[in-house]
Order: sequence, then C-alpha cells, then structure tokens
Amino acid sequence: MLLNRIVFFAYLASQTLLSFEMSILIKNILLDQQILDIYIEGNSIKKIGKNITNAADKIIDGKNKAAIPGMVNGHTHAAMTLMRGYADDMHLMPWLEQKIWPLESKLTEEDVYWGTKLACLEMIKTGTSLFFDMYHHFPASLKAIEEMGLRAVLTSACFDFDQPQMAEDYKQTVIKQMKLMQGHSNRIQYALGPHAIYTVSTDLIKWVNDFSKDNGLRIQTHLSETQSEVDNSIQKYGKRPAEYLDSIGFLTSNVSLAHCIHLSDDDIKRLADNGCQVIHNPASNMKLASGNKFRFSDLKNAGVPICIGTDGTASGNNLDMFEAMKLASLNGKVAWEDPTIWNANETFEAATEIAETLTGFKTGKIKEGYLADISLVNLNVPEMVPNFNLISNLVYSANGNVVDTLICDGKLLMENRKVEEEETILFNANKTAYNVVSRLKEA
Ligand SMILES: [Zn+2]
Repeated sequence: MLLNRIVFFAYLASQTLLSFEMSILIKNILLDQQILDIYIEGNSIKKIGKNITNAADKIIDGKNKAAIPGMVNGHTHAAMTLMRGYADDMHLMPWLEQKIWPLESKLTEEDVYWGTKLACLEMIKTGTSLFFDMYHHFPASLKAIEEMGLRAVLTSACFDFDQPQMAEDYKQTVIKQMKLMQGHSNRIQYALGPHAIYTVSTDLIKWVNDFSKDNGLRIQTHLSETQSEVDNSIQKYGKRPAEYLDSIGFLTSNVSLAHCIHLSDDDIKRLADNGCQVIHNPASNMKLASGNKFRFSDLKNAGVPICIGTDGTASGNNLDMFEAMKLASLNGKVAWEDPTIWNANETFEAATEIAETLTGFKTGKIKEGYLADISLVNLNVPEMVPNFNLISNLVYSANGNVVDTLICDGKLLMENRKVEEEETILFNANKTAYNVVSRLKEA
C-alpha cells in the first residue's frame, strides 16, 4: 500500500514537471527605441513594459543589448552545409548536373542528419529562429531540427523527371512523412516541396496541388530562377512558368516561390492575384549569375509579400540572414540604379515580419501574445557603434556574430554565443562531409 502511494506521488510529481513551463525575464533591453523588460512564459511573450516584477526561472540582463525578432530564412536546403565550398564559380545547370546531384545521390540519412545539425547551429549562431527547408531524407532533417530547437517549415524535395515510378514513390513517401510528423513538436510544420517545373512532371505537380489543398499544407517551389527556365517553359508548354502553373490551378496563397528573378508584368499580376509569396535569394542569384534584376518595387506595388532567403550553402555559402539582408538591399540598389529601394526598414521586414504570412506561425514581431522567438544583439561591438539607427546597423553594418542570445519557442538555444553540443556538431559534420565526397570518388 505504502509502495503504491509512493509510486502514485512520484507519478504526480513527474506530471507536474512535464507540464512545467519555463519563464524568462529579460531586464532593461533596448526594444522599439526604449529600455524595456520582456517577460516570457512557456513559448510566448506574455508581457512587455517597464519594471516587470514577475518571478522568472531565468533572468537575463539586457544591458548593452537590443531585442529583435528571430529572423526567418525563407528558403534553404539545410543539409547542403555539407557541400559548402565544394563547387563554386559554375553555371546553374552544369553545377547541378555535374557536381551537386551526383553528390546528393550518395547522401545517407546519417549524412543529412549531421548536415542539418550544422545548418541549425549556424542559424542559431546568426540569429535565425525559423526557416523553410527543402531537402532529401526527411526523417533525418526532422530529427535534427527537433533536437536543435528551431522552428521550421519542412518539405521533402520532390523530383520525378517525368518518370511515373518516381512520381508514385514520392506519393507514398508523402503519406509516410505525414504519419511521421504525428507526435512531433508543433514547432515543425510539414509542407510540400516540388523542386521546379523542369524537374517535376505536370501530373505530379497537379497531385501535389490537390494533396496540399486536401490536407491544408503549404507548398514551396523554385520559379523563374534563370532565363533558360523561362525559355524552356515557353518551348515545352507554350507558356511562361508562372502562367503554366496558374493554368493548372497551382498558384494559391499557400504557395511560396523561391527566386522569381525572371518575371514579366503578367507573371507579377498572376502571383499577386493568387496571393503567392516570393523569396529573394540574393547571394545564390548573384553567385550563379542567374539574374540580378529582382523586381522588388513592382512586386511590392502589386502587393506580393516578399521574403529573403539564403538558399542552400552550396550556392549561397552561408546561412547568415544579416548578410542576406545587406546583399538584397545592395544588389537591388545597384541593379535598378536607385539607392532608395530596399531601404533598411523594408529589408528588415522582409527578414522578420514576413514570417507570419509565409508560414502561419505567429512570430516575426516582439509583441505580447506572439511566440517567444527573440534574438538579443550585442550593441557593445564596433560594428554597432554608434547606434544612430538600429535597423540601419543591423542591415548595413552587422553580421550574424553580433547575436549574443537566441530564444526560440521560449527556450534559450544560445546564451553568450554558447550553443549546446557545438563542438560535437562541428566535428561530426566535418567528418561526414569528407566521407560523402570520398564515397563519390570510390563509385
Ligand atoms: Zn533553392
């Protein structure tokens, strides 16, 4: 009887611990040009104000720091960190066909796990709390992101190259992946990722479209990245890429489109009319020379939500959203010979506030009721002094190293630039990258 009681009370205690919600109080931090306190309970921002006195499990001194929203990387292929610096200075198609795809064919789940861990580590260290991922070996990415504590919209890359068996396999895989998502944290959202119109058949694109509508899933794909993609689409379908996708009912407000460098006026109207979002990837576009005239002003005037992404590190080389912001802004100014476009505020918004429209997660702003995804930026470093204009410093002067602390979903993922398991991740990801390349050479 006594033993039963002990077991019962032990059970009660464990349940209390399980339902225990961590609280964090950030004191005296610069936010919206004022020195304020931020109180976080569970995974959300409960209170913002002066002299908050709520008891908290963790108190952070915000002196010499500013609180900014965790950034959203709108488009990446996380595990491509393994290919950083593996193949540079090439045109897109030979780069994909001769370098990237052969290496990707050798990747195992274990490889993708360590590649994604490395990507998450880099994102945490540079203040990104939410990203849109598209890659292979979905279970490995899911496990890595779950462990690292970031928020993500996770798609599994879909290709069929007009081969019916590949399309059938993908459909079965999607069903399995949907099941795998059950029981995982709601920080991770499942979405569909048909790679591009030149790698996915019309039949499979239609299936993805129907499946996403039936299951309320978001979709991300690459669109109009190069002029040759547009030319081939006109040759094959008699339509430009956006017109082709619109003609099969694919364009909806659940669809985000990476790149969109080569858009006509008609394309922009179609994207706006259907509520699609566009992700600009300046580093990748410039490095692969896929085009530099991203039609920022025309898209913005048409009401198309614009986000910034890094693309994978095989093309963009890093996942630092501070760098991506600066590149987006400077590239836009030089391409259109207009220093007023991509101003600091609109550039910062495209890396933060856009989060809600792009993903549905209530994040991207530091406001009561929003998810507690917050970066604390060190103001006492050369690139942040003087601080006439915080947003200007963040967009034009800083890089990701100014991030001191990252909170995602109410949990501290980095404090004083220290991330749990950092050394292990660096060691294993490095070893994995060399192993993959040696396997390719042996084949
Ligand atoms: Zn991409």
